[in-house]
Amino acid sequence: MSSHTTSSNTPADHSPIKRPIILVTNDDGIFADGIRALCKAMLELGDVYVVAPEAEQSAVGHGITVRRPLRFKETIADRFEGMKAYRVDGTPADCVAMGIRLLPLPDLVVSGINMGQNLGDDLTHSGTVSAAIEATHQGIPAIAFSQVFPPADEQFDFSGSAQYATQLVRGLLQQKLPPRTLLSVNFPHGKAKGVRVTKLSNHDYKDNLLERQDPNGSKYYWIDGIPSGDSESDNDLGAVQEGYISVTPIKLDFFAKEYQAALEGWLPKL
Ligand code: MN
Repeated sequence: MSSHTTSSNTPADHSPIKRPIILVTNDDGIFADGIRALCKAMLELGDVYVVAPEAEQSAVGHGITVRRPLRFKETIADRFEGMKAYRVDGTPADCVAMGIRLLPLPDLVVSGINMGQNLGDDLTHSGTVSAAIEATHQGIPAIAFSQVFPPADEQFDFSGSAQYATQLVRGLLQQKLPPRTLLSVNFPHGKAKGVRVTKLSNHDYKDNLLERQDPNGSKYYWIDGIPSGDSESDNDLGAVQEGYISVTPIKLDFFAKEYQAALEGWLPKL
Protein backbone atom coordinates (compact mmCIF):
# COMPACT_ATOMS: atom_id res chain seq x y z
CA MET A 1 0.00 0.00 0.00
CA SER A 2 1.29 3.43 -0.94
CA SER A 3 1.89 5.77 1.91
CA HIS A 4 -0.56 8.22 0.30
CA THR A 5 -3.48 5.77 0.49
CA THR A 6 -5.77 6.07 3.45
CA SER A 7 -9.08 4.33 4.02
CA SER A 8 -12.05 6.68 3.71
CA ASN A 9 -13.52 5.20 6.91
CA THR A 10 -10.48 5.44 9.11
CA PRO A 11 -8.95 8.88 9.39
CA ALA A 12 -5.18 8.75 9.12
CA ASP A 13 -3.46 9.60 12.33
CA HIS A 14 -1.22 12.54 11.52
CA SER A 15 -0.88 13.71 15.12
CA PRO A 16 2.72 13.56 16.26
CA ILE A 17 3.43 11.00 18.98
CA LYS A 18 3.48 12.93 22.23
CA ARG A 19 6.87 12.76 23.87
CA PRO A 20 6.64 12.17 27.60
CA ILE A 21 7.64 15.02 29.87
CA ILE A 22 10.36 13.99 32.31
CA LEU A 23 11.36 16.11 35.29
CA VAL A 24 14.89 15.41 36.53
CA THR A 25 16.14 16.40 39.96
CA ASN A 26 18.72 15.33 42.56
CA ASP A 27 20.19 16.25 45.93
CA ASP A 28 23.85 16.59 44.92
CA GLY A 29 23.13 19.90 43.18
CA ILE A 30 22.47 20.93 39.59
CA PHE A 31 26.14 20.77 38.59
CA ALA A 32 26.80 17.23 39.88
CA ASP A 33 27.98 14.60 37.39
CA GLY A 34 25.22 12.15 38.32
CA ILE A 35 22.36 14.42 37.25
CA ARG A 36 24.21 15.25 34.06
CA ALA A 37 24.37 11.57 33.14
CA LEU A 38 20.69 11.02 34.03
CA CYS A 39 19.51 14.08 32.04
CA LYS A 40 21.38 12.96 28.94
CA ALA A 41 19.88 9.49 29.25
CA MET A 42 16.33 10.86 29.64
CA LEU A 43 16.71 13.08 26.57
CA GLU A 44 16.43 9.92 24.45
CA LEU A 45 12.98 9.26 25.87
CA GLY A 46 11.19 12.56 26.24
CA ASP A 47 11.19 16.30 26.82
CA VAL A 48 13.48 16.91 29.76
CA TYR A 49 13.08 19.61 32.39
CA VAL A 50 15.77 19.86 35.05
CA VAL A 51 14.92 21.40 38.42
CA ALA A 52 17.66 20.84 40.97
CA PRO A 53 19.15 22.45 44.06
CA GLU A 54 21.77 25.12 43.31
CA ALA A 55 23.93 23.70 46.12
CA GLU A 56 24.33 20.20 47.51
CA GLN A 57 21.43 19.03 49.68
CA SER A 58 22.47 15.47 50.54
CA ALA A 59 20.83 14.00 53.65
CA VAL A 60 18.25 16.80 54.04
CA GLY A 61 15.47 14.25 53.76
CA HIS A 62 12.02 15.53 52.85
CA GLY A 63 12.55 19.04 54.19
CA ILE A 64 10.52 21.76 52.54
CA THR A 65 11.29 25.45 52.83
CA VAL A 66 8.42 27.38 54.40
CA ARG A 67 10.10 30.19 56.37
CA ARG A 68 11.84 32.11 53.59
CA PRO A 69 11.24 32.86 49.90
CA LEU A 70 12.51 30.52 47.21
CA ARG A 71 14.09 31.41 43.87
CA PHE A 72 13.62 29.48 40.64
CA LYS A 73 16.30 30.52 38.16
CA GLU A 74 16.79 29.34 34.60
CA THR A 75 20.25 27.88 34.08
CA ILE A 76 21.87 27.98 30.66
CA ALA A 77 24.83 25.60 30.35
CA ASP A 78 26.27 23.34 27.64
CA ARG A 79 25.54 20.32 29.81
CA PHE A 80 21.80 21.06 29.60
CA GLU A 81 21.70 21.44 25.81
CA GLY A 82 18.29 20.43 24.47
CA MET A 83 16.64 20.75 27.90
CA LYS A 84 15.22 23.47 30.10
CA ALA A 85 17.10 23.69 33.38
CA TYR A 86 16.32 25.58 36.58
CA ARG A 87 18.12 25.82 39.90
CA VAL A 88 16.39 26.35 43.21
CA ASP A 89 17.90 27.66 46.47
CA GLY A 90 16.08 24.97 48.41
CA THR A 91 15.75 21.25 48.99
CA PRO A 92 15.08 18.41 46.53
CA ALA A 93 11.44 18.27 47.71
CA ASP A 94 11.17 22.05 47.04
CA CYS A 95 12.50 21.43 43.52
CA VAL A 96 9.79 18.87 42.75
CA ALA A 97 7.02 20.91 44.41
CA MET A 98 7.99 23.97 42.32
CA GLY A 99 8.82 22.12 39.11
CA ILE A 100 5.46 20.40 38.80
CA ARG A 101 3.61 23.68 39.38
CA LEU A 102 5.75 26.09 37.32
CA LEU A 103 6.51 23.82 34.35
CA PRO A 104 4.40 21.49 32.19
CA LEU A 105 3.10 18.65 34.36
CA PRO A 106 5.58 15.76 34.06
CA ASP A 107 4.64 12.18 33.20
CA LEU A 108 7.54 11.01 35.33
CA VAL A 109 9.98 12.39 37.90
CA VAL A 110 13.47 10.89 38.15
CA SER A 111 15.96 11.78 40.88
CA GLY A 112 19.71 11.18 40.87
CA ILE A 113 21.93 9.61 39.96
CA ASN A 114 23.02 10.12 43.56
CA MET A 115 26.69 9.92 44.40
CA GLY A 116 26.37 7.29 47.09
CA GLN A 117 23.99 4.44 47.89
CA ASN A 118 20.54 4.92 49.38
CA LEU A 119 19.79 1.55 50.90
CA GLY A 120 17.51 0.42 53.70
CA ASP A 121 17.04 3.02 56.41
CA ASP A 122 18.97 5.60 54.36
CA LEU A 123 15.64 6.37 52.70
CA THR A 124 14.56 8.36 55.74
CA HIS A 125 17.31 10.96 55.31
CA SER A 126 17.96 10.72 51.56
CA GLY A 127 17.23 13.90 49.62
CA THR A 128 17.38 11.87 46.40
CA VAL A 129 14.61 9.51 47.51
CA SER A 130 12.61 12.33 49.15
CA ALA A 131 12.39 14.12 45.81
CA ALA A 132 10.83 10.97 44.35
CA ILE A 133 8.54 10.69 47.38
CA GLU A 134 7.36 14.28 46.86
CA ALA A 135 6.43 13.42 43.26
CA THR A 136 4.63 10.30 44.48
CA HIS A 137 2.65 12.42 46.96
CA GLN A 138 1.54 14.52 43.98
CA GLY A 139 0.44 11.41 42.07
CA ILE A 140 3.33 11.43 39.59
CA PRO A 141 5.29 8.20 38.98
CA ALA A 142 8.85 8.53 40.28
CA ILE A 143 12.17 6.71 40.44
CA ALA A 144 15.15 7.48 42.67
CA PHE A 145 18.56 6.45 41.28
CA SER A 146 21.66 6.09 43.46
CA GLN A 147 25.09 4.58 42.91
CA VAL A 148 27.39 3.12 45.56
CA PHE A 149 30.60 4.98 46.31
CA PRO A 150 33.61 3.77 44.32
CA PRO A 151 36.80 2.70 46.14
CA ALA A 152 38.87 5.69 47.34
CA ASP A 153 41.27 5.52 44.36
CA GLU A 154 38.49 5.45 41.71
CA GLN A 155 36.00 7.93 40.27
CA PHE A 156 32.26 7.57 39.79
CA ASP A 157 31.40 6.24 36.35
CA PHE A 158 27.70 6.70 35.54
CA SER A 159 27.75 5.46 31.93
CA GLY A 160 26.44 1.94 32.57
CA SER A 161 23.94 3.21 35.13
CA ALA A 162 22.58 5.86 32.78
CA GLN A 163 22.13 3.20 30.11
CA TYR A 164 20.09 1.00 32.44
CA ALA A 165 18.11 4.05 33.64
CA THR A 166 17.04 4.60 30.03
CA GLN A 167 15.83 0.99 29.75
CA LEU A 168 13.99 1.12 33.06
CA VAL A 169 12.28 4.44 32.35
CA ARG A 170 11.29 3.25 28.87
CA GLY A 171 9.65 0.27 30.57
CA LEU A 172 7.96 2.31 33.29
CA LEU A 173 6.46 4.73 30.76
CA GLN A 174 4.48 1.72 29.43
CA GLN A 175 3.51 0.56 32.92
CA LYS A 176 1.66 2.01 35.85
CA LEU A 177 2.92 2.07 39.41
CA PRO A 178 0.38 1.30 42.13
CA PRO A 179 -0.81 4.35 44.13
CA ARG A 180 1.70 5.77 46.64
CA THR A 181 4.44 3.52 45.29
CA LEU A 182 7.82 4.48 43.82
CA LEU A 183 11.02 2.72 42.80
CA SER A 184 14.41 3.10 44.45
CA VAL A 185 17.28 1.92 42.27
CA ASN A 186 20.84 1.38 43.50
CA PHE A 187 23.71 0.71 41.11
CA PRO A 188 26.75 -1.26 42.27
CA HIS A 189 30.28 -0.07 41.62
CA GLY A 190 31.63 -1.30 38.29
CA LYS A 191 29.86 -3.27 35.60
CA ALA A 192 26.63 -4.75 36.96
CA LYS A 193 26.17 -8.54 36.77
CA GLY A 194 22.40 -8.22 36.46
CA VAL A 195 19.29 -6.76 38.06
CA ARG A 196 17.42 -7.89 41.17
CA VAL A 197 14.05 -6.81 42.52
CA THR A 198 14.90 -6.47 46.18
CA LYS A 199 13.54 -5.97 49.65
CA LEU A 200 14.61 -3.02 51.72
CA SER A 201 17.43 -3.94 54.09
CA ASN A 202 18.17 -2.39 57.48
CA HIS A 203 21.25 -0.63 56.10
CA ASP A 204 22.15 2.53 57.96
CA TYR A 205 25.11 4.42 59.32
CA LYS A 206 25.87 3.75 62.96
CA ASP A 207 26.17 7.01 64.81
CA ASN A 208 29.69 8.19 65.13
CA LEU A 209 29.84 11.71 66.51
CA LEU A 210 33.22 13.33 66.06
CA GLU A 211 34.20 16.03 68.54
CA ARG A 212 36.74 18.65 67.46
CA GLN A 213 37.94 22.06 68.53
CA ASP A 214 37.68 25.23 66.49
CA PRO A 215 40.59 27.75 66.35
CA ASN A 216 39.05 29.62 69.33
CA GLY A 217 39.11 26.51 71.49
CA SER A 218 35.32 25.90 71.34
CA LYS A 219 34.02 22.42 70.70
CA TYR A 220 32.19 21.53 67.53
CA TYR A 221 30.70 18.25 66.37
CA TRP A 222 30.55 16.41 63.10
CA ILE A 223 27.96 13.69 62.48
CA ASP A 224 29.78 10.82 60.85
CA GLY A 225 28.67 7.24 60.36
CA ILE A 226 29.92 3.72 59.93
CA PRO A 227 27.95 1.71 57.33
CA SER A 228 26.02 -1.15 58.93
CA GLY A 229 23.26 -3.58 58.01
CA ASP A 230 22.41 -7.19 57.26
CA SER A 231 23.38 -8.16 53.76
CA GLU A 232 21.10 -10.80 52.22
CA SER A 233 20.88 -11.91 48.61
CA ASP A 234 17.26 -10.72 48.33
CA ASN A 235 17.76 -7.29 49.88
CA ASP A 236 19.12 -4.05 48.43
CA LEU A 237 22.37 -4.16 50.42
CA GLY A 238 23.14 -7.74 49.39
CA ALA A 239 22.36 -7.05 45.73
CA VAL A 240 24.78 -4.14 45.33
CA GLN A 241 27.45 -5.89 47.39
CA GLU A 242 27.20 -8.87 45.06
CA GLY A 243 27.46 -6.58 42.02
CA TYR A 244 23.79 -6.42 40.99
CA ILE A 245 21.53 -3.46 40.30
CA SER A 246 18.96 -3.33 43.08
CA VAL A 247 15.41 -2.17 42.27
CA THR A 248 13.22 -1.84 45.36
CA PRO A 249 9.52 -0.97 45.23
CA ILE A 250 8.81 1.52 48.02
CA LYS A 251 5.39 2.15 49.50
CA LEU A 252 4.50 5.34 51.37
CA ASP A 253 2.71 3.68 54.22
CA PHE A 254 3.97 4.42 57.72
CA PHE A 255 0.95 2.88 59.43
CA ALA A 256 1.93 -0.06 61.68
CA LYS A 257 -1.24 -2.12 61.26
CA GLU A 258 0.21 -5.15 63.06
CA TYR A 259 0.69 -3.09 66.23
CA GLN A 260 -2.75 -1.48 66.28
CA ALA A 261 -4.42 -4.21 68.41
CA ALA A 262 -1.53 -4.44 70.88
CA LEU A 263 -1.61 -0.66 71.33
CA GLU A 264 -5.35 -0.85 72.06
CA GLY A 265 -4.42 -3.40 74.73
CA TRP A 266 -2.38 -1.07 76.94
CA LEU A 267 -3.20 2.49 75.89
CA PRO A 268 -4.52 4.38 78.98
CA LYS A 269 -8.18 5.34 78.56
CA LEU A 270 -9.57 8.68 79.68
MN1 MN B 1 23.51 13.14 47.53
